[in-house]
Amino acid sequence: MLNVPPQAFPAPGSQQRVAASGRAKVPLKPGRSLMDWIRLTKSGKDLSGLKGRLVEVTEDELAKHNKKEDCWICIRGFVYNVTPYMEYHPGGEDELMKAAGTDGTDLFDQVHRWVNYESMLKECLVGRMAVKPIAAPKGMLSEKGVLGASTKDVMLSYDWFQTDSLITIVIYTKQKDLNAELVIVDCQDKRLRGEIIIDDHSYLVEVDLYHAVQEDLAVNITEKVGKVEIILKKNDNIHWKMLGQPLENHNTFIKRTDRGQFYRKCKLVSKTEVTHDTKLFCLMLPKSTHLRVPTGQHVYLKQIIAGTEVVKPYTPVLPFLPLDFKEPSCHDGAHIYLMIKIYSCGPFTQALEHLQVGDYISVSNPEGNFKKSQVQASEDLFLLAAGTGFTPMVKLLDFALTEVSCLRTVKLMFFNKTEDDILWRNQLEQLALKDKRFEVKFILSQPTKDWMGKEGKISSSLLSEFVKRSSKYSKVLICICGPTPFTEQGVQYLKDLGYSQEEIHAFTA
Ligand code: FAD
Ligand code: NAP
Repeated sequence: MLNVPPQAFPAPGSQQRVAASGRAKVPLKPGRSLMDWIRLTKSGKDLSGLKGRLVEVTEDELAKHNKKEDCWICIRGFVYNVTPYMEYHPGGEDELMKAAGTDGTDLFDQVHRWVNYESMLKECLVGRMAVKPIAAPKGMLSEKGVLGASTKDVMLSYDWFQTDSLITIVIYTKQKDLNAELVIVDCQDKRLRGEIIIDDHSYLVEVDLYHAVQEDLAVNITEKVGKVEIILKKNDNIHWKMLGQPLENHNTFIKRTDRGQFYRKCKLVSKTEVTHDTKLFCLMLPKSTHLRVPTGQHVYLKQIIAGTEVVKPYTPVLPFLPLDFKEPSCHDGAHIYLMIKIYSCGPFTQALEHLQVGDYISVSNPEGNFKKSQVQASEDLFLLAAGTGFTPMVKLLDFALTEVSCLRTVKLMFFNKTEDDILWRNQLEQLALKDKRFEVKFILSQPTKDWMGKEGKISSSLLSEFVKRSSKYSKVLICICGPTPFTEQGVQYLKDLGYSQEEIHAFTA
């Protein structure tokens, strides 16, 4: 049974009150939580104001609806009447009004591109903008159908060939530093989707295959020349006349932020306790998916809660903290581990808590702006984490201690309320004993009397004591993650202490 939260929520620290990317938090009135909005959308009320009709909206018409009491916004070509949603918007009415009567797509993407507005605002849909999008290439893909997508610096193309039992699709990127994290492939019900990430752009091969294929696929990457092979096993050993039908976004090379999120269903294979309120969820990717989540990036989970699709971000961790950093850890790539704190009144984590082993949940492609090169250039790495803000630090620690030879010190300052809240305390202490470069400090904001360690909250004095260059000119990187106000305060203290923007990475949505 789904635990529907009482009216008092969202709680003061709730993500529902905190707009992503550290934007202003606005206290929502009682009765204006996510669950209240979902209830209203199910009530049968006419929220679009058009009694179920859909209209084609011209720019002039859109511009007329620019007041709080009559506010239309266009997102990706669809127009919504957001007036009924005003009081429920976690970022507040003023944020929403910035896009009143206009195309709010860019603003939306900057702030919370991951929010599933199509589902959240479905009852507010007024119609489409009158301008038609440019049509993607259509037609069947023949045996030697080589198509290309290019910009000034990048030229991409693909080809395909077959043997009796295999179909191989080859994508040529001409990018030297291509690796497994930059290639995402899914094949579901004859629908093949291969995405290649090149900086902040994405190239997509998306085809409705001519015939069905077997579930498991293989991906080979030749890093030196930037070649990707997707190998599919035919179901029947028959000759294919063509690869299939190109889908809408096939053979496009566009900004990643303009690509819609893609989800695949993953099976929950285990759920184990980490602390009294935090669990490690192990999800298994389908055999027909090739996906590696890069260090410092997160994925989105999507669940239907009370009939509405709700999306929340989570940062994958490792199954445990490796203690032997001699060789790069070998992860099987078939599983994603998520360390998730269950809030007694959090709608999303309550639904996760009720997920049973064997159930499925939708997992998105990875996102995030952290770059490993930031660590590769540093000599001192400082990690400041609060609560589950520890999650991005897990892979980061593994990467830093395994693969970054110039690092002299790696220090984690871990803020929690009580001793019972400390995630993987034992493993962290073991690691500190084992690796001389690594040091961990626990700071508790609500300790019991017998706590012998540090007490308090993030402050300038704590940071100045902890974050110190190992030598006068050593290159530092300071990574920070936790509740938004924690992160914002931390960044400000660090700047006041003289650290530059380039030396600080804050994990946000
Ligand atoms: P919400 O409705 O958002 O409520 C949770 C909040 O409500 C908490 O902050 C808590 O203060 C408050 N609250 C809930 N119950 C009570 C109560 N009884 N009394 C007082 N206060 C209460 N979370 C993880 O656990 N692991 C991750 O790896 C992770 N990665 C993230 C990555 C990114 C980029 C971002 C932006 C967030 C991440 N989060 C992570 C947070 C996650 O996305 C959700 O916000 C979180 O799981 C809460 O969702 P919810 O709907 O259950 O709760
Ligand atoms: P928590 O247990 O509530 O808090 C952890 C510690 O941080 C406690 O000591 C707490 O002190 C302190 N703290 C909380 N709010 C603070 C504030 N405003 N100023 C200074 N210190 C503060 O934390 P949690 O419930 O695990 O929440 C973790 C947060 O991290 C969530 O908001 C989640 O969204 C975020 N997160 C973000 C990412 C990302 O990549 N962006 C990844 C993972 C998690 P008190 O005793 O005062 O509460």
